[in-house]
Amino acid sequence: MGEPKPQIPFLFVGNELCLDFINTQFVLNGQQVDLLATFSDLVTWLVQVHLLTGEEAKKIEWQWGRQAKGTQTLEQARAFRVTLREMVERITAGRPVPQNAIEAINEMLRYRIGYPQLTRRSGKFERGYQAESQEANQLLGLLAEAASNLLCMCDFLLIKKCQNPACVLFFYDTTKNHARHWCSMTVCGNRSKVAAHYRRHRSG
Ligand SMILES: [Zn+2]
Repeated sequence: MGEPKPQIPFLFVGNELCLDFINTQFVLNGQQVDLLATFSDLVTWLVQVHLLTGEEAKKIEWQWGRQAKGTQTLEQARAFRVTLREMVERITAGRPVPQNAIEAINEMLRYRIGYPQLTRRSGKFERGYQAESQEANQLLGLLAEAASNLLCMCDFLLIKKCQNPACVLFFYDTTKNHARHWCSMTVCGNRSKVAAHYRRHRSG
């Protein structure tokens, strides 16, 4: 029996599904981390963002978890994530959304089969999605829908990259004054404060 691998939890600092999806790949202590290492990771992520129910996830893993189709879907999802990262990098740089990103999103939107479903969650309603799984690549349709929401619903000026140059995380700034600079105050925000404090003391 091998050691259980240390689990890094998924990050939900993006305030937008598509940005959280891009944020499944990041840099930690100078090392690239990819939280979507397996098809199962992708399915787990979709459950955590309430796009799949636990029951649906079990069925999907049973159907495709150990199949080539599962691996292929994971690879497509990762390639899609690269396209989305480039797209969002361009948005944050004030440049136009590239046509190849629109084409990739439209291509994957065609995989979407199923229907939305409402669920009650701690007194509120959430719209989930019943995938009616026929094909593993339907999962890509869910990711494409998140990407299309970002383009259709979000103010591009509020899509931001963490100001820590070593950090690659994106977020949608929903603060009142639109003054959010960091993916997380406790991680990058604090680090920057400590550095500034150190600089002040050294120069003073
Ligand atoms: Zn950061």
